[in-house]
Amino acid sequence: MRRTTIRRASLDAIVAQAEREFPYECCGFIIGNDSSEEVRPIANIQNRMHAEDPVAVPRDARTAFLMEPKEHLAVLNEIDRRKLALRAVYHSHPDHDAYFSATDRAQACSFDPSQPDYPDTVYLVLSIRAAKFTRAAAFVWDPTGGEFVESTLAVE
Ligand SMILES: [Zn+2]
Repeated sequence: MRRTTIRRASLDAIVAQAEREFPYECCGFIIGNDSSEEVRPIANIQNRMHAEDPVAVPRDARTAFLMEPKEHLAVLNEIDRRKLALRAVYHSHPDHDAYFSATDRAQACSFDPSQPDYPDTVYLVLSIRAAKFTRAAAFVWDPTGGEFVESTLAVE
């Protein structure tokens, strides 16, 4: 199993966001380099999209997330400008386990179903039950198997 390392401060920030946004999914990025890491929370606009068109967007933010596009783009631009790496994409599962769902996989491979948009990035999923953090799991792309596999998550 591959090993993923994230900083304690990053996990603490993500857990606080996920508990605060419960019962809705939260989302965002961890960016950084070998010596530093920063969390960039992104607004989940799934509730707004669902309210505007519940037929086309049947799920609300309790079981789905959609990143606010301008905030999403701003983080990608910041990574370019500061020459950082996109270390992790994260989201939470309110009242569900920390697994990588078929929807999560489809969303991670939005341009090409056979390859993630960010093949070298870790995907973190946080399980939040009754507004309390229970577990985080990390998933990485396995190019040999062509699937996401769970990775050991070390918090340092
Ligand atoms: Zn999910």
